[in-house]
Amino acid sequence: MKRIVIIGGVAGGMSAATRARRLDPEASIVVLERSGYVSYANCGLPYYVGGVISEQSDLLLQTPDSLHRRFRLDVRVSTEVIGIDAQAQLVMVRDRLDGTEYSLPYDYLILSPGAQPILPTLPGIDRALTLRTIEDVTRIADAVAGAPRHAVVIGGGFIGIETAENLIHRGIPTTVVEAADQVLTPLDPEMAVPVAAELRRHGIDLRLGVALAEVNDTGVVLTDGTSIDADLVIVAIGVRPDVTLAKAAGVTVGARGGIAVDAIGRTSDARIYAIGDAAEKADALDGDAVLVPLANIANRQGRMVADHIMGRPVRHIPTIGTAIVKVFDLVVAVTGWNERRLHAAHMEPVIIHSHPGSHAGYYPGAESMMLKLCIDPQTQLILGAQGVGTEGVDKRIDVIATAMRCGLTAPGLADLELAYAPPFGSAKDPVNMLGYMADNMLSGLTISAQWYELQDLLDQGYGLVDVRTPGEFAAGSISGAVNIPVDEIRERMTEFADNPVLVFCQVGQRGHTATTLLRELGVPAVNLDGGYKTWLNSPAAFSADRALPGS
Ligand SMILES: Cc1cc2nc3c(=O)[nH]c(=O)nc-3n(C[C@H](O)[C@H](O)[C@H](O)COP(=O)(O)OP(=O)(O)OC[C@H]3O[C@@H](n4cnc5c(N)ncnc54)[C@H](O)[C@@H]3O)c2cc1C
Repeated sequence: MKRIVIIGGVAGGMSAATRARRLDPEASIVVLERSGYVSYANCGLPYYVGGVISEQSDLLLQTPDSLHRRFRLDVRVSTEVIGIDAQAQLVMVRDRLDGTEYSLPYDYLILSPGAQPILPTLPGIDRALTLRTIEDVTRIADAVAGAPRHAVVIGGGFIGIETAENLIHRGIPTTVVEAADQVLTPLDPEMAVPVAAELRRHGIDLRLGVALAEVNDTGVVLTDGTSIDADLVIVAIGVRPDVTLAKAAGVTVGARGGIAVDAIGRTSDARIYAIGDAAEKADALDGDAVLVPLANIANRQGRMVADHIMGRPVRHIPTIGTAIVKVFDLVVAVTGWNERRLHAAHMEPVIIHSHPGSHAGYYPGAESMMLKLCIDPQTQLILGAQGVGTEGVDKRIDVIATAMRCGLTAPGLADLELAYAPPFGSAKDPVNMLGYMADNMLSGLTISAQWYELQDLLDQGYGLVDVRTPGEFAAGSISGAVNIPVDEIRERMTEFADNPVLVFCQVGQRGHTATTLLRELGVPAVNLDGGYKTWLNSPAAFSADRALPGS
């Protein structure tokens, strides 16, 4: 009989436990969980803060009893593993309720202890709360019940933003402080601007480019010297893999600070596996070790190591890091690498921005979204995608993530046969359109420039032509642009001097038509990718002498 001990009874640990049981009715499977709860929905915790999930019991998916009844699992909560003797294959355990200590032997040990919220070493930091466990959310819910006058959330990442949104749901004035100059750093800056706008639209006081310096009796002090009064301070600046036990067991910790594992989740000790947030993963793009603290991966790895222990063949799946978050009425989703990361790795991706409708424009209720695709110009493979919008963003990013997993090229997106009827999409779905655009760009049919290249091109002597209608132009354009609507280009050719031109429209589509036409007519033309709408979201728009709508 195999003796399997699992440390951590939530996403990864519980997946491993239940899968192991399904494969082996005889195995002894013990799950040790430090907190008082097992198999809880930590992804739902922010929504309990906001009352969207009203009952704490809804977060508790299983109990030790239910897991014993269905799976004959021995699940011990309030039970902390305090040491591992890898030589003797023993874990040392402390019962947190009565303080008793004992040891448990194992044939296979699975580490799924998760990650710890990062707390900066700053004065008064112990007054701040974090959000990771049911105990944490209970503390925050208690604080919320005391009707705080003001809350400060430190960190504009996924958890910080979800938490802030839910505090606003509770009617608590909330400030979000983010050290970077944008929220949600998996997004490129021009994709993050609408997210910041959405937060502010819903009343969040968003402070970018400034960090926490101190927590005190009255609230917080920021690095720019500003004080904010607050009776609730939540720190959500990221998580760090929990490698305490791995280190104690003498298991190798990798360069990224997570437990180093091989392709099948085995640590440097062949009897010890590590999964979930605590373990490093292989990145699908460059094969390097990465930390990707996401529930899907933890669950997948749990199943994989159970399969391996039970002698089943397993597949090594590197990660592409697909993630999604709700920001009030917006949906933000990402997969793969963003442009910033690609540039940092000295890769020069081809970039496409588009602003399609969620479904056919003639069917009521279509919403505009913003998509971005990063492509490897050599292999034509998709390197990453980002989506910001409302309806339909999740579907498009999931399709692109699937395409990436299957090794589809970017032009290959055009060939996908996606479900279509007017209420759901378009005959040429936004994903298909990205494929057509990729084909145009990779074949040299379209030559485009990015928002951050605009100034450089103007400095090189490019003319700037807005090919939208006079009405659109009057409502706001890029400073210095001349308005020649796309349909008037042929008649107004004399207005194009010998120098090259940078052309733009609202979203890039008419710009593409204008660019192709101008090139046919002998004018070297470049299309501003994603058009005015993308530029308007860019940091360049905020620093440039911008002609504001209506000005
Ligand atoms: C607020 C919040 C929202 C999230 N939202 C999303 C989301 O929307 N989508 C998404 O993909 N991911 C989300 N995540 C991340 C996701 O929850 C994690 O990636 C996933 O839970 C990781 O699983 P895990 O098994 O590695 O660790 P966990 O699920 O954290 O479980 C680890 C468990 O190990 C226990 N443990 C640690 N040390 C010991 C010890 N010494 N002895 C005994 N037990 C121990 C801990 O108490 C903990 O319960 C969210 C996380 C949080 C905190």
